[in-house]
Amino acid sequence: MDWEFKELGYDFDALEPYIDAQTMEIHYTKHYKAYHTKALSALSGDTSKSVEEVLLTDLRPAVQNNGGGFFNHTIFWEILGKNNGEGPSGNVGALIDKAFGSFDVFKEKFAEAGATLFGSGWVFLVYDEKSDELEIIQRHNQDHPLCGKKILMGLDVWEHAYYLNYQNKRPDYIKAFWEVVDWKKVENRFLTEKTFVLV
Ligand code: MN
Repeated sequence: MDWEFKELGYDFDALEPYIDAQTMEIHYTKHYKAYHTKALSALSGDTSKSVEEVLLTDLRPAVQNNGGGFFNHTIFWEILGKNNGEGPSGNVGALIDKAFGSFDVFKEKFAEAGATLFGSGWVFLVYDEKSDELEIIQRHNQDHPLCGKKILMGLDVWEHAYYLNYQNKRPDYIKAFWEVVDWKKVENRFLTEKTFVLV
């Protein structure tokens, strides 16, 4: 991933009523923007290394928090989109069935990971190429999910991602999230993303 501030690719109200326009606007123009600006500031504007390489080699808190925030949100914006009830298919659909037995069980496990994450953080779905297995992982704060596995999708469970519409009801937000996962984008990440390994 490069350090360019990414276009959202859809309007702030595109995910209504599941994620409201005001939340999207604040989340994108304030939170995401701040992570990007502060990350570049911490790097003194040096964008010669990829986001992944910086996150894995520069352990300064300002870089981990803000660079991680930029990285995590960029993936989040990418995989969001109304699916009109269409679930996973293709490689990701088959891997979900293999790892969890069914899409419903996967959704339960993912929601549980989101609901039980104390404080602010993320839940990611990653793919291990060596074992050909999917895995659900949690991350606190803006810690990045880079762990030698391909990152397929992520869900932001910080309160700023849902509080305006859902207040303290994080499980309701996670339930609504399933309406706005664009599984074609997730499948595309499976097909095109590389597992990031430091060389
Ligand atoms: Mn966020």
